[in-house]
Formats: sequence, C-alpha cells, structure tokens
Amino acid sequence: MLDICLLGTGGMMPLPYRWLTAMMARCDGSSLLIDCGEGTQIALKEKGWSPKPIDVICFTHYHADHVSGLPGLLLTMGNAERTEPLLLIGPKGLKRVIDALRIIAPELPFEIRYLELSEPREQLKVGPYVIDAYRVNHGVICYGYTISIPRTGKFDLERAKSQNIPMKLWNRLQKGETIEQDGVCYTPEMVLGPARRGLKVTYCTDTRPVPVIAEYAADSDLFICEGMYGEDGKEAKAREKKHMTFYEAAKLAKEAQPKEMWLTHYSPSLTRPEEFIDKVREIFPRTIAAKDGRTVELEFDDNE
Ligand SMILES: [Zn+2]
Ligand SMILES: [Zn+2]
Repeated sequence: MLDICLLGTGGMMPLPYRWLTAMMARCDGSSLLIDCGEGTQIALKEKGWSPKPIDVICFTHYHADHVSGLPGLLLTMGNAERTEPLLLIGPKGLKRVIDALRIIAPELPFEIRYLELSEPREQLKVGPYVIDAYRVNHGVICYGYTISIPRTGKFDLERAKSQNIPMKLWNRLQKGETIEQDGVCYTPEMVLGPARRGLKVTYCTDTRPVPVIAEYAADSDLFICEGMYGEDGKEAKAREKKHMTFYEAAKLAKEAQPKEMWLTHYSPSLTRPEEFIDKVREIFPRTIAAKDGRTVELEFDDNE
C-alpha cells in the first residue's frame, strides 16, 4: 500500500559504503522522493526502483548533500521518456536553486512545476499523498515532512438505506465518486462511516530537536530522524552545527511514540552507528540504526 525506502543514510558526503540520506515512497503507481544528494540515483538503481514514476520531489533544504544529485536524476528521468510534469517542493529560493542546477540539464521532455514553502507549516495534497511540511531549526531554512495516506470510513449500510440512496450508486460512492442524478447530488460521505486511521511517515533531518518534530511524528507508523552523532561528547558539536545526536532523536521519539524510528544522516566519521544502539534504545526501544536501502511495506490495519 505504501512502500518506503531509505535510499541512503549518510550526511555531508557520500561514502563508498553509504549514500547520502534520501527517502522514496511508492503508492498507487506514484512515487515521491525526499531529498536528492549526490549519488541518490545510484542508490535508487541499487534498490531496483525506477526513477520514472517520481511525481514529487520534496527538499528539506539546499545544502549540497540534499540537492546536488538533482540534475543527474532529471536527465535519467528524461532518458526514461517521462513526459508527465514533475512537482518540486522546497523552502524559499526553490526556483533560484533549481534553475542554477538546471544549467547542466536544460532540456527535459517533461515540465517542472515549483511549489515554494513560505509558512512555518503547510499542507498539500498531491496524488495519493497528503504532505505536511513544517519548519525546523538548521543553519539555513529547513523543513521536515510528514507523508500521509488517508483512509476513508467503512461502507455504512444503514446510512445508505436511511437516506434512500439508490442501490446502484452505492459501489461508485464507496469508491469516492460524487454523483449527480435526477437533480440530487450524492457524495461518498453519505454512505461511509467515520474516516479510519491511514498511514503516516515522518522524515526529519538537519535540525536541532524542536518540539514541532515530535508533534508531527506523533502516531507515525515510521519516524525517520537525523542522528548525526552517536559517540559521547558530541553534544556541543551537534548544537554548534545545528544537528542532532542519536539521543536527542530518541528523546523526540520517546515523546512522539511512533511505531518505529530509523536513524539516518550519520556523520562520515561515524563508521559503525549500530555500536551505540543499545544506549539509544534505553531512551526509545523501537529504534533502528538504519542502513542504506532499508525498506518497509506499510499496510492499512485490517482490524480498523
Ligand atoms: Zn545534511
Ligand atoms: Zn544541512
């Protein structure tokens, strides 16, 4: 239903064994990418997922490790003969940054559309995705993203009957169609019960721990969070560089209580992040020190 792949887990620079952090979501034939650092398209190739159906790319911010892979990815999407428009979402300066990168990828067989974020919190709907963007606290303007797949309510037979809705329309209404017939407008809400819990993934990197992150990560099926440093004595450096330690990430998770947290955006000096995982799990037990290509297939809960 919603496939998530953490394509890479590195911060600052790609390494021979670690690509830069980026996340891809797939749902109903539409793919969404968050961030595109140097080498993201190689990570995608390693995963075996096609870049062609990427309909949206969200940028957290414009540091090179999150954006410099874009020209190559656009050219590859062009070579795959993509013709549908591509939507780019990012903080203020989006078009200026992309235009500069596009100097080396000027001709593409598809249109690029821009959606520049200006408010501290914004919500938009693109294809199957509800995208929440919220401003965090880094050296430059930076946003975290929560990607949700909403789920409608169950078909409610009693409601449909009590409102005398023609039976032959039930199926179409249940699938989300609004139908006009004999001067009456029938909407899906007329035959559906209350909305059920959908799916929710929160991605947040390059920031100090700020309360808004826990707010959006709350009740997420998956919370992917920056953990730049795991070693002792890195707290001051994390503060200075506006990044987070594993333990700061775990405290956000403890507050938000997602089903699981994956750490990402490791410092290049941190070669074995899993060494620190026991200590992190003392704060938030359901933490994974993610490795490149870690994937999960999220499904709606059958019991709802
Ligand atoms: Zn970064
Ligand atoms: Zn950064």
